[in-house]
Amino acid sequence: MRAVKLRSFGEPDVLTCEEVVVPPVGWGEVLVKIACCGVCHLDLILRSGLRSRVALPRVLGHELAGEVVSVGAGVDAFAAGDRVTVFNFQACLECEDCLRGHPSLCRFSKGDIGQTRDGGYAEYAVLLASNLVKIPQGLAMEAACFAACVYGPPYKAILQVGNLQAGQTVVITGASGGLGLAAIQIVNALGGRSIAVTSSAAKAELLKSKGASDVIVSEDGAFGDDVRRLTDGRGVDLVVELVGSPTFAGTLRSLAPGGRCALIGELHGKPVSINLGLLIIKEFRIEGVQSASRDEVREILDFMKKHDLTPEIWRRLTLEEAALAHLQLQAREAIGRVLLIP
Ligand SMILES: [Zn+2]
Ligand SMILES: [Zn+2]
Repeated sequence: MRAVKLRSFGEPDVLTCEEVVVPPVGWGEVLVKIACCGVCHLDLILRSGLRSRVALPRVLGHELAGEVVSVGAGVDAFAAGDRVTVFNFQACLECEDCLRGHPSLCRFSKGDIGQTRDGGYAEYAVLLASNLVKIPQGLAMEAACFAACVYGPPYKAILQVGNLQAGQTVVITGASGGLGLAAIQIVNALGGRSIAVTSSAAKAELLKSKGASDVIVSEDGAFGDDVRRLTDGRGVDLVVELVGSPTFAGTLRSLAPGGRCALIGELHGKPVSINLGLLIIKEFRIEGVQSASRDEVREILDFMKKHDLTPEIWRRLTLEEAALAHLQLQAREAIGRVLLIP
């Protein structure tokens, strides 16, 4: 089979496609023929070597969907022909955190697809059955592959942290990325109003065309007063914070009393200052949101099907073009997601 093997860390050109043997299928494992695999910003970090967990050589790619070819011993939940996608991390499913329904907090994780196990930049992948989720009939693989990583965090932010009700308003920072566009779709599906914040004036029109009710262009993160103007001075019920420290002051300023901030992204890793008195008086809630678990991915797939949510696909590229995909993502040219089609 063809696979993009990362053999050394570095610039995008370390990604080259080669002919390799299809790995054997062991106990509890499933051989999947990859139909498509999204290229994630995390992949850029992994390729550059900034995360030490990746042992080389490695096949990147955790946003995959495909068809089961064969199953190993001990697998009875899947059979050849099943359409499947994955959730990103291999929680142990046995520890205290896993058992109380927080597998994303598992400290005994056996590693992540595309990090400690070969992923989807290939024609085939051997995956643990415990990482697979069946795709509901009628939902395209090109949508399903993004359930965990792209729709997962905004879904958890908007439904779990935000408990969004029809008519409520949500601010989405960093709205023109894949997660931001997914967040806009989810808010719309629930009958909410979305205020998209972007640092790029060039992307404002696009955000409108993708369903944002209002768009604020803010280069300095000081958009709180604009949000208040758009909400008759009240502020919003929920902020989906995809940028983190650069926009956090604007986020706090945007919240209505009792408002919630679901924190998904932190791009700069810088500390922020918070007036704790404000948190008390306004009863704000700030919650971190991690990847979706298996049960959540099932829920999200059903939600995507029910509301006909399809991700914005910017480019479809071949495995041979994996390096090009990384270059384009790195240059921040992409609006929406890049897919590799083996
Ligand atoms: Zn991802
Ligand atoms: Zn666990």
